Amino acid sequence: MNRVRLLVLNAALGVLDYRVPQGMTVEPGSVVVAPLGPRQIIGIVWEAERLPGAEVPEAKLRPLLEALPVPPLKAPLRRLVEWTADYYCAPISAVARMVIGSGSALRGPATTTEYRLTGREPDRMTPKRAQALDALQGEQATMRELAELTGVSEAVLRGLASMGVLEPVTVDCDRPYPQADPAHTDVTLSAVQAEVAAELVDAVEAGAFAPFLLDGVTGSGKTEVYGEAVAAALRAGRQVLVLLPEIALTEAFLRRFEDRFGAPPVTWHSSLKSSERRRAWRAIAGGTAQVVVGARSSLFLPYANLGLIVVDEAHEVSFKQDDGVRYNARDVAVMRARFERIPVVLASATPALESLQMAEAGIYRKLDLPARFGGAQLPEIELVNLTEEPPERGHWLSPRLAAALADRLERGEQSLLFLNRRGYAPLTLCRKCGYRFQCANCSAWLVEHRFSQRLACHHCGHEEKPPLACPECGEPDCMVACGPGVERIADEVSGLLPQARIAVVTSDTLGSPEKAAAFVAEAESGAIDVIVGTQLVTKGFHFPELTLVGVVDADLGLEGGDLRAAERTYQQIAQVAGRAGRGTKPGEVLIQTRHPEAAVIAALAAGDRDAFYAAETEARRHAGAPPFGRWAAIIVSSEEEAEARVAANRLGASRPVLPDIAVLGPAPAPMALLRGRYRYRLLLNARRSAQVQDVIRAWLARLEFPRGVRVSVDIDPYSFV
Ligand code: ADP
Ligand code: ZN
Repeated sequence: MNRVRLLVLNAALGVLDYRVPQGMTVEPGSVVVAPLGPRQIIGIVWEAERLPGAEVPEAKLRPLLEALPVPPLKAPLRRLVEWTADYYCAPISAVARMVIGSGSALRGPATTTEYRLTGREPDRMTPKRAQALDALQGEQATMRELAELTGVSEAVLRGLASMGVLEPVTVDCDRPYPQADPAHTDVTLSAVQAEVAAELVDAVEAGAFAPFLLDGVTGSGKTEVYGEAVAAALRAGRQVLVLLPEIALTEAFLRRFEDRFGAPPVTWHSSLKSSERRRAWRAIAGGTAQVVVGARSSLFLPYANLGLIVVDEAHEVSFKQDDGVRYNARDVAVMRARFERIPVVLASATPALESLQMAEAGIYRKLDLPARFGGAQLPEIELVNLTEEPPERGHWLSPRLAAALADRLERGEQSLLFLNRRGYAPLTLCRKCGYRFQCANCSAWLVEHRFSQRLACHHCGHEEKPPLACPECGEPDCMVACGPGVERIADEVSGLLPQARIAVVTSDTLGSPEKAAAFVAEAESGAIDVIVGTQLVTKGFHFPELTLVGVVDADLGLEGGDLRAAERTYQQIAQVAGRAGRGTKPGEVLIQTRHPEAAVIAALAAGDRDAFYAAETEARRHAGAPPFGRWAAIIVSSEEEAEARVAANRLGASRPVLPDIAVLGPAPAPMALLRGRYRYRLLLNARRSAQVQDVIRAWLARLEFPRGVRVSVDIDPYSFV
């Protein structure tokens, strides 16, 4: 091969052809460095016939500069990249960037210098030095990372190093991970568990494409059961990927893996340090990372020898990425398994309707774990009709829920209150003029966070100090909170039960793995009486003393007309209810609602999952919604309102007229302003058989938009804001 076509990581550059110089060997999948004008770019050698583009004449071809010392990306991964770009109407280079994931991984072996404490005291203590020493306990990292970790400057740290308080350590950037041992522990499965596990183990050993839906109630032992399949893959010398929603990637989960296999899994998620990212990437590509537990982006990594994929909590909406390449990791996982010819397990207590439908159609094999392990009972669920048993004015907990909390406290048991709203209150007003505090960049209210004393936008991250006076009328000390967030509920609990030890658990308070681990340890030791949390507490945690779950506002998720609102409400409440009574004591769940008659609430109360799915299936069929029909969204945005509107209208005016695809809109998006961009939406509703992507591609290709306009396509959207 002396002429190659490159897939480059920058979409704007398109496809580029090069000559392979004498003495260099490359093959499809090789990662190379190529010249572009005065610059150097990274590209992946690709089959030319699969990447359409104009051919550069032979005489104009420039030679590649270097083939990078990493294994070539394998054909199944190359096919996955193509499929993902094609299906989600995304630039193929953007998908390829997710494969590369770490720039420094592409360079060969390397060492780096890290620093750690020696135990010596500094000659003179300063506040900065004290702060550094405090944060450095047990840490070892590069100067830059330590500076970030401690919040003091590198200069201060270098000073500490020069006086011998910190010492340098040379580390191999690619030091191997500890080896997992499939036989580390002997798990005794129940008869039902064993039967299910045997099927999965057989599939791993057979080494063929096999999609499974592992449908088991909370606490049934899904993790134990797929652990057997993981062990089988390890015995076969093959790699395993366990995909988790980012928020479920907790220390507790990782520890469980370590207990089972004698070594922690390799992790991959957004908060990895770049050195960890490099190390993980190279071990994954080199085949030495045996079990990878990662968030959705770990799906695109270049596993050398993948033998099994597990998607845990497979119904989770966070598997859907809503910026960049808008893919659904659950669906892409199945495609990867197909290309790799391996089994894939979707595990959930509340599967997505789409997954159940695939099982019903015989495409996925459904495996059931209908009961909790060890005879633990599913909790008793009761509704509290808030119109009949209202809380006191300005309060959010009904007398019955308040009494149940008091009762648990007396008995020394734990309670969990669930409200999916961070902060103190979702809306803040001026008491005098009614001014509403709103984000300048988004169509959203600013949320008061009392603990950290700030007003925050949950969409763009904008934060400000609460003003001393109303920006509109000047009234001093004017802010009135409207509605509850978890912080306000915590306040209410401490008013009711002054002696209760309360923990607020949200992404604000549990932002790091260390904080999460500390919380778990505290809760397990019985040092917490009442947990007040957002969806972060709905999954993964297993606290045997937790016997009461209160859902503060079950109707919250049903507002706003999201097309999956009912399903998501069902899943969230069923999951959080599953936290109750996991030990020997029975659990009780109180669900506060104003709509006890709503199908989803009634089904939750009756513990009748089938009734919910039946009602939801009918509603979806009626609406032509997935899995019976398909949706796609097109979002047109610009920093200029008029520019976005004009572009959206032009797009609307040139809509395709087809019997099997209806185009709705354009209309201003519910979040008409997001991160400073004005947004319009079009929604396509198509028959299942329609070639939606082809239609969209042809439609968009006919139009040109001003540079400030961004048009993004969302296939099978989850978010409708
Ligand atoms: P799920 O993932 O279905 O919610 P888990 O796998 O977390 O369930 O299991 C629930 C609890 O029961 C865990 O504490 C787990 O260790 C325990 N458990 C499940 N199956 C077994 C088993 N076969 N032997 C011992 N403990 C088990
Ligand atoms: Zn904002």
